[in-house]
Amino acid sequence: MPLSTFPLRARTFATSAHVKALSAAARPKADQLSAQWKGTSATGGTTKNFIGGEFIESKSTEWIELHDPSTQTVLSRVPQTTDSEFQQAVDAASHAYKSWSRTSVITRQRFVMELQHLLRRNADAIANSIVLEQGKTLADAHGDLLRGLQVVETAAGITSNLLGDKIEVSKDMDTEVRRVPLGVCASIAPFNFPAMIPLWTIPVAAVTGNTLILKPSERDPGAAMIIAELCQQAGLPAGVLNVVHGGVSTVNAICDNPAIRAISFVGGDKAGRHIYELGTKNGKRVQANLGAKNHAVLMPDANKNLALNSIVGAAFGAAGQRCMAVSVAVLVGDAQSWLPELVERAQKLKVSGGFEKDADLGPLISPAAKARVTGLIASAEEDGGKIVLDGRGVEVPGYPDGNFVGPTIIEAGTPMRCYQEEIFGPVLIVLRAETLDDAIDLINENRYGNGTAIFTQSGATARKFETEVNVGQIGINVPIPVPLPMFAWSGNKGSVLGDIGFYGKSGINFYTQNKTTTSLWRAEDAVGNRAAVDMPTHH
Ligand code: NAD
Repeated sequence: MPLSTFPLRARTFATSAHVKALSAAARPKADQLSAQWKGTSATGGTTKNFIGGEFIESKSTEWIELHDPSTQTVLSRVPQTTDSEFQQAVDAASHAYKSWSRTSVITRQRFVMELQHLLRRNADAIANSIVLEQGKTLADAHGDLLRGLQVVETAAGITSNLLGDKIEVSKDMDTEVRRVPLGVCASIAPFNFPAMIPLWTIPVAAVTGNTLILKPSERDPGAAMIIAELCQQAGLPAGVLNVVHGGVSTVNAICDNPAIRAISFVGGDKAGRHIYELGTKNGKRVQANLGAKNHAVLMPDANKNLALNSIVGAAFGAAGQRCMAVSVAVLVGDAQSWLPELVERAQKLKVSGGFEKDADLGPLISPAAKARVTGLIASAEEDGGKIVLDGRGVEVPGYPDGNFVGPTIIEAGTPMRCYQEEIFGPVLIVLRAETLDDAIDLINENRYGNGTAIFTQSGATARKFETEVNVGQIGINVPIPVPLPMFAWSGNKGSVLGDIGFYGKSGINFYTQNKTTTSLWRAEDAVGNRAAVDMPTHH
């Protein structure tokens, strides 16, 4: 696909929007971030590339402006990495691979153990960067980091998890299988989890002996830059992790570069399909997590309080910008009468800047995202849906310029656009079903298969649901059933491309390949002088 078909989404520096002041709560955090970290700025400076162990100012002529989504203040400018800078990153990763892949597994384990200490010690800085650039609330930003930290901690088990197999296949003949790294790998991240998603790949790629080129989202790369600096402090040698910025042309450079052996992608359908097709066409291993539409089924026997609170939290937390957000509630039978209470609880949520103490949800990532979400809400009206709670036009005191949309609930039908498309905003679609079978059928008809949940007090109902529903991650009285990293990500259907999931055992499989050696050490061969001419039959 030609590069020119993909316009950069963010506005470039040349077309800069108006610069507004940060909130009083955000200003000291921004100053601190700019002063303390080499790779990121929150006060109008630039975001650096991290190549061969150095934080380098790009020589690019094309820059992407990064705005605080609560106020539109310019925080940083992110480079569209040049071709030669990108090649330097690949060269640094290729060079580092030669020694890192031969470093002992104990040394690589020590790196992740150090990293987890440093991430915990610097959690506030990472969370502050996430709130500033991404907009989510401070507590939610800490959760973003925590879920990534769990992958780092699990990666410390590599000394057991990388054990190979060996058996004597014939007299004096052994076959041994070792899991060896792939080489230079790349990771392309979305905007919605600026710490967690880079941490899905950095520790797993590194402990298995690979080197990595990370391209964070051009919309909030600050957390990844702090993580890169902490990796260096944790003893990761120069070139094992490199971070390059940019939009589609950096992505295409990753897909086309022959030195890159594997690509991990998390993001939307359009980019994911493109990367999967181009990457696999070029012979690379690709894992791609894509979009979602996650249904929560509310049975009439559910614990009402738990169910309604869970659904409201999972639908509107992070302003709905989670791939595992509950975006559809299916009210079954008598549970349909609970809709007014669902609306009442959603109405109570406070929309505000992410640093405000009582904020439940913050802004959307960009004015374009806000326009998309409000457009989809409007489409529901045109398609005959009923907006029972309308978050358009929400007024947020102190933040007149933020990309805010309040909690929105729409009664809709399955053919409507607002149901068929991923909205990725604080919008809950409500569907009605007469029976559990009807609910399961409509979930199975949906093209996505990331997550689903059922709220019930019946073990039999839960059992039927988990057996019959064709979705990869199922919650029973759990609204966001993301598996912890001792398990692997297991979204299915249209929510993934590629066969090997992120982290857990799958993550190790993704970043390694098997190497078998069959060896014969027979004492008599040392003195024998007769060649065997028959096909070996392993007697
Ligand atoms: P996005 O697809 O716009 O961007 C993801 C990455 O791809 C970014 O690094 C971006 O620079 C790059 N990119 C964007 N458009 C591209 C294009 N046309 N060609 C090539 N590269 C491109 O996604 P986003 O808006 O940052 O993130 C939100 C999406 O990510 C949602 O659809 C959400 O469901 C999905 N997501 C999925 C998971 C999961 O595990 N399934 C997790 C988080 C987010």
